[in-house]
Amino acid sequence: MPELPEVETIRRYLDRTVFNRTIAGISGFAPTIDPEHLPPLSDRTITATSRHGKYLFVDLDSGSSLVLHFGMTGDLLLITGYDSDPPYTRAVVSFSDGSRLAFTDSRRFGRLRWIPDRKAFIVERRLGPDALTISRETFLTITAGSHQRVKMFLLDQHRIAGIGNIYADEILFQAGIRPLRSLHDLDPIRLSLLAAAIVYVLTTAVDRAADFDRYPANWLIPHRSPGERCPCCGEPVSRVMVAGRYAYFCPSCQK
Ligand SMILES: [Zn+2]
Repeated sequence: MPELPEVETIRRYLDRTVFNRTIAGISGFAPTIDPEHLPPLSDRTITATSRHGKYLFVDLDSGSSLVLHFGMTGDLLLITGYDSDPPYTRAVVSFSDGSRLAFTDSRRFGRLRWIPDRKAFIVERRLGPDALTISRETFLTITAGSHQRVKMFLLDQHRIAGIGNIYADEILFQAGIRPLRSLHDLDPIRLSLLAAAIVYVLTTAVDRAADFDRYPANWLIPHRSPGERCPCCGEPVSRVMVAGRYAYFCPSCQK
């Protein structure tokens, strides 16, 4: 499932490929696109891309934006020349120069929508601050008074935006905190370590283009399956159900 590092990697790909291209039209199928609420966007030029949490925004010269969410399996691919659409193409943004941007999504949970105002969208969705650049001060503010379990908090997009199941496990592993600990039990030093781990893990993942094969050897991510051992101490990795999904952790390294 695309989390913040995957979406940021796609955003950088878009910046390299479609910046300044002019849209000729958008086609596709529901529910990926919503044809009734898609205004004519021909002759609109892409002026910028940005991201908040797991949402990717493509700004147009009209001041409006396209917003993309990648669901479980969404991805984008620029096609030039006569190449045919890749498998599972659900929507296509065509450009005036003949190139096309294909939105592929085998599971169909991804969405491409037009919105009049990107900032209003972030407010309406009540998204928390973006996790990639969150400061220690902001993190201490948003966690103050919370009794939530720490992993639940990290997954709550209204509290902090961009973290999903896989990176939450890595962040807690790097911070040495068990997933079911209550935020209320963590002292300010622990919370500061957690804030630093969020930025460290996400920044490192983005720098490595969300390529799991390039992640540091002491990360938990390659060991998130039963029977695996902790890359730091060699103890068997444990798992526990949180929010209907497995959280993996090291019972020795995480307290
Ligand atoms: Zn360990």
